[in-house]
Amino acid sequence: MKEVFRHHELIRVSHFRDLVEAAGIPTMLRNEHLVHGVIEIPIPEFYPNLCVMNDADYEAAWKIIDAHIANEKSDHGPDLICPKCGEKNPGNFAECFSCQSPLGDSD
Ligand SMILES: [Zn+2]
Repeated sequence: MKEVFRHHELIRVSHFRDLVEAAGIPTMLRNEHLVHGVIEIPIPEFYPNLCVMNDADYEAAWKIIDAHIANEKSDHGPDLICPKCGEKNPGNFAECFSCQSPLGDSD
């Protein structure tokens, strides 16, 4: 088992897990129980992280994640700051991932 991606936002880690799993790569999500939606633990050791079950899948899994991150940056515009809680959301989010408030439309 090998860690591919680590981030304090569980929604981001689990999203990448879905992408990697969709490519047929078996994965495991670690530390997901430690953060529950809104609580952010400022210790990287405890961040949710995505692992591939087979080390040989590491490169393929990382390429999927890397391509997705590059795509996000080019397609979704700047991050949106939630007007209610101040959390930073990806530019394509319609609702704040943290408090579910509608985000301002940047168009
Ligand atoms: Zn919010």
